[in-house]
Amino acid sequence: MKELLSKRAHSLEPSVTLSLNTKANDLKARGEDVVGLTAGEPDFPTPESIKDAAIKAIHDNKTKYTPGAGIRELREVVARAYSKILSVDYSAGEVVVSHGAKHSIFNALFTLIDPGDEVMLLSPYWTSYPEMVKIVGGVPRIVELTKETGFKLTPEILLGEIDKRRPKALLFNSPNNPTGIVYSRDEMEALSKIILDAGIALISDEIYEFLTYDGYEHVSPIRVVPELKGQSVVVSGVSKSYSMTGWRLGFALAEENVAYRMAAYQAHATGCPNSISQWAAVEAVEHGGEAREMMRKEFERRKELFGRRLKAIREISYPEPHGAFYYFIDVSSLYERCGVSGSSEFCDKLLEKNGLVVVPGSAFGCDNMVRFSFAASEDEINEALDRFESFVASCTR
Ligand code: PMP
Ligand code: GLU
Repeated sequence: MKELLSKRAHSLEPSVTLSLNTKANDLKARGEDVVGLTAGEPDFPTPESIKDAAIKAIHDNKTKYTPGAGIRELREVVARAYSKILSVDYSAGEVVVSHGAKHSIFNALFTLIDPGDEVMLLSPYWTSYPEMVKIVGGVPRIVELTKETGFKLTPEILLGEIDKRRPKALLFNSPNNPTGIVYSRDEMEALSKIILDAGIALISDEIYEFLTYDGYEHVSPIRVVPELKGQSVVVSGVSKSYSMTGWRLGFALAEENVAYRMAAYQAHATGCPNSISQWAAVEAVEHGGEAREMMRKEFERRKELFGRRLKAIREISYPEPHGAFYYFIDVSSLYERCGVSGSSEFCDKLLEKNGLVVVPGSAFGCDNMVRFSFAASEDEINEALDRFESFVASCTR
């Protein structure tokens, strides 16, 4: 028999973030003494009014196929809200609702990238980006960002990369997973102008747009350079801002010709997004602001608590996160003393010796680092840091 698997599927591996999350939950369910700061997932219940909207949708028999791009009511609510947020007009026809922001990013790549096209990714990158690019036949071109620029893309680096190999698209993420960095308005404007002039497509992953701290605010590239609308897909969703990760609901905003093709692809690939989740998302986007802000404030408090405890550990360093809900920590000075050769072994040993599950930086293209999520309760954070401190102490003793 011929090889059963396609070449595309041959090297596909599961998502490290999701797998580790499942592992931590399974270990806990088996009664093992573990703490998991793995997946970036708010620990709050979904706000009541959002759940009520979903229950109402079920009772109203809103349980059938919807249009491929999503129900008109949600596309209108998203178009209205994001025309304000982005300060650029979007119509309902320029909104495509999908099964999560992850799905929206995939749809955008599928619609914009031909086999062989290069897509510029910035490392540390979110773990799914390179895989998604490869699945659609594109070539991930990873640009390594370092501590020297605070893990930020600078105009010099961007111009240099464009000159060197003119990519078809840039997949950009601010507030950033895993570093937590947030680009300022000026930084965003400088980069956006270069992207506009170069005529490269921009997929702007803004899933953490409302989760910023310390007075930082997310500013979308489209907001600072509105002319970018014509070459961009802006992606967001309800998972992080409204604690709705399991509802699987995200959306993309793009000019009508792109939105039309994204919706057409989706209609063939998955039919339509989940009807009940769409009705819940109408409530979230329209009326969820207060609950969202309550959760953001709580994350900010936990970030401070986390940061205070991390400061006491001399052997590590990290960029200060001003968005999302992660600390991305350089632990490489401990590798030799811990008897490990990289982030994956470091995380294995941390689990084995102290029962703490975190995500190795190798999943984000950065083997010196490990990622801790602070979307966890105060007790869990304290327990996790007790364990981390004692692990570091046992390595350095
Ligand atoms: N982008 C980034 C950077 C993320 O961290 C996540 C988290 N899952 C997503 C996209 C996808 O979010 P979702 O599919 O849950 O909307
Ligand atoms: N985005 C989250 C994370 O990075 C959820 C897991 C995932 O979708 O990969 O942990």
